Amino acid sequence: MDLSNLTNEEIKELCLEKKIGAKELTDNGICPTCFNREYDGCVFGDDTDKTIYSDENFEVFLIGNPRCPGHTAISTRKHFKDMMDVDTELIGPIYELSQKVMILIRKVYGSESVYLCTMCDGPMNHFHVQLIPRYSYEERGSDNFKKPRQEYIEDKEKIKVLRKELGYKGE
Ligand SMILES: [Zn+2]
Repeated sequence: MDLSNLTNEEIKELCLEKKIGAKELTDNGICPTCFNREYDGCVFGDDTDKTIYSDENFEVFLIGNPRCPGHTAISTRKHFKDMMDVDTELIGPIYELSQKVMILIRKVYGSESVYLCTMCDGPMNHFHVQLIPRYSYEERGSDNFKKPRQEYIEDKEKIKVLRKELGYKGE
């Protein structure tokens, strides 16, 4: 679907009516994450309640359609197509932050391990890594990267601890 002749307000309406979604926006060179934020959560809804950390370069948030409890993403604020495009000086910091968040997720969610993957693939993206816990009742291995998506269940207590440990005070 070509959106190039539509105004942003018209695109917002189509999103609200669920006639288009993240894929169509991305195909038209529109970042769904930024569009969602600028146009009242019309794509994914208001997701600020899932943010557990942010600074000038990165945002850390719980995934709205997780593969398991504790599924988290760490995203650059800037747009990058994928890992191959990222500013070199951000590579070190995002993995340092990832380590910190992984250790914290393991502690807070009681998982046995936490897996990391990155697979940004689209013309308009924020470079991000996904952190996926692997629990003791789950087999080790790469199947954990494609566990079925589940409903997000908010756990205010855990979010409070995550934010406190990461020193996040909210936007
Ligand atoms: Zn964006």
